[in-house]
Amino acid sequence: MKGLMMDYQLTLQPILQRGYRLFPKKEIASKFGDTMHRYTYADFYGRVGQLANALTKLGVNKGDRIGTFAWNSYRHLELYFGVPCMGAVVHTLNLRLPPDQLAYIVNHAEDQIIFVDNSLVPLLERVAGELKTVKHYVIMGDVAETSLPNTLSYEDLIGAESADFAWPQLDENDAAGMCYTSGTTGNPKGALYSHRAIFLHTMGLSLTDTAGLSERDVVMPVVPMFHAMAWGLPFAATYLGSKLVFPGAHMQPQDLAGLIQDERVTLAAGVPSLWFGLQTLLEQGGYDTSSVRAMIVGGSAAPRSMIEGFEKNFGIPILHAWGMTEMTPLGTVANLKSYMDEWPDDERYAVRAKQGIAVPGVELRGIDENGDEIPWDGKTMGELQVRGPWIIRAYYQDERSENAFMNGWFRTGDVVTIDPEGYVQIVDRTKDLVKSGGEWISTVDLENAIMAHPDVLEASVIAVPHPKWVERPLAIVVTRPDLDTPLEKEAIYAMLSAEFAKWQLPDDIVFIDEIPKTSVGKFDKKVLRAQFQDYKLPTA
Ligand code: ADP
Repeated sequence: MKGLMMDYQLTLQPILQRGYRLFPKKEIASKFGDTMHRYTYADFYGRVGQLANALTKLGVNKGDRIGTFAWNSYRHLELYFGVPCMGAVVHTLNLRLPPDQLAYIVNHAEDQIIFVDNSLVPLLERVAGELKTVKHYVIMGDVAETSLPNTLSYEDLIGAESADFAWPQLDENDAAGMCYTSGTTGNPKGALYSHRAIFLHTMGLSLTDTAGLSERDVVMPVVPMFHAMAWGLPFAATYLGSKLVFPGAHMQPQDLAGLIQDERVTLAAGVPSLWFGLQTLLEQGGYDTSSVRAMIVGGSAAPRSMIEGFEKNFGIPILHAWGMTEMTPLGTVANLKSYMDEWPDDERYAVRAKQGIAVPGVELRGIDENGDEIPWDGKTMGELQVRGPWIIRAYYQDERSENAFMNGWFRTGDVVTIDPEGYVQIVDRTKDLVKSGGEWISTVDLENAIMAHPDVLEASVIAVPHPKWVERPLAIVVTRPDLDTPLEKEAIYAMLSAEFAKWQLPDDIVFIDEIPKTSVGKFDKKVLRAQFQDYKLPTA
C-alpha cells in the first residue's frame, strides 16, 4: 500500500539544515600552512547559501556536474553541500590522477565548472586544453596569474551573493555526488551517488556499532575529500554537529600529530600508509594523542601489527573498515561483539585485523568459481558480493557495468573468506592473487606478516612470472631508515616460516627505498608489477 507515511525525501538538505539549526556554534577548522582557518556551522551555512545563489547565476541547472579539484578544507565542504542542495552534482576530481585519466573523467562526466584550490591550479593547467565541457574555473584562495581560461575568484563570486537561498524541492533519487574509481586498469569508472544513498549511508556510518559518531566527536577526515566522499565523514559530522578538522594539503606525520594534539581530535580516518609514518613519529614521543578514541583505517588492509602497535603503545584503538567507491563507500567494520571481550588478546586482535562484519544497510555473500555461495567457515575462498541502498546499480555510462553485477549483487573483485561469526577477511583483490601452479597465494597475508617485523616499514608482495609455476610471489620491502644493522632476507624468511607453508613463501625478497603509492595512497601494485616484470627469480 502506498502513502502510509509522509512523503519525506532523504536528501542532503535536512543534513545541512540540522547542522546549522542545532549546532550553529560548533566549529569547522581548516589548516592552511601555519595558520588555522576557523568558522562555525552558522558561518558555513551562510556561505553555502551564497554559493547556491552564485551557481544559479552562473546558469547551473539541475543535474549538472560541477567538479572540485581541492584538498580537504572548509571551502570543499561548502561545495559538498552547496552543489547538491541546489540540485546539481558535486564531482570530486582525484588530484593525483595521471593527466590523461583526469581529462578522461572530466570529459566523461561533462563537468560544467571546476572549483580549484589555488595551489592546485598548475596541475589543472596541464590538462585544461583537453577539457571539452568546462565553462568556468573558479579559483579558491588568492588568485595568481594562470593560463586557465574563464577564471573566477571563489570569494568574489560568493561574496556578491545573499546568504538566503530558496532551496528547491529535490527527489531523493536525484544525483548528488560523483566519484571515479582510481585503482583500476584502463580508464577510471564513475559512481554516481543519489541523495538517498548518501543520506542512508550517513545514518549507517553514525550508528554506535559502526563508527559511533557523535556531536561530541572532533572528526578529522585525513582520507581525501576527492576519494570516495571522504568515506562520508563530512556528511555525518554536519548532520550530528561534530567539530570538523581539515588538514588541507598538510598530511605529513608532523602535521597530523600536531592537529590531533592541538584540536583534540577524537576520530581520525585514513588509509594505512598515512598511519605508518605517524606511528614512527609518535614512537619518538612529544605528542599528546590522548584525545583520540578511534582511528578508522581502510582502503587497504590494516596489518595486525599496526592495530596492536597503536593500541598498546599509544592507547589509540584502530577501527578496521572495508569499503569501495562503488559503495558510497562503507561496507564492513571490524568491531568486536560483546562476548569477544572475554577472548584472549591474540584472538581479539585476529578478529580486529579482519575487515569486519557487514554494517547495517549492507548485505554480503561470497561466491565461488561455480557460482555457488561459500560456507561461512573462515577457510573457503570466494568473491565478495554486496547489495544495499548505497551501492551503485551500474557504473555511470560505462559498458564495463555488464560484468560487474550478478543477479542484483555487485561483484567487488575482492577474494574473501567469511568466518562463522560473519567476519569477512580479504585474501586479495582478484587481480593481485598469486596463481602458483594450481594454488592461490594471498599477497595480503604475506604483506601483513612481513610488516609485523619491527625493522620493516612497508611491504608489498606481487606475482612474478615463473616458467614452471606460472607465477610466484616476490616480496618488496622497505626497512626503517634508522636501523643500526641492516635487515637480512634470512630474518624475514625465518619469521614467515613459522606461519606459512614452504610453497607459500616468496621466492625472493628485494629491498627498495619506497613503495610506489596510488593516487589515494595505497601500495601501487600496477607500478611494482611493471617495475619487476622481468625480474629473474632465483628459482626460475
Ligand atoms: P580504488 O579502487 O580507487 O583503489 P576504492 O577505495 O574504491 O578505490 O578501492 C576499493 C578496494 O580497496 C576494495 O575493493 C579492496 O580491494 C580495497 N580495500 C578497501 N578497504 C580495505 C581493507 N580494509 N582491507 C583490504 N582491502 C581494502
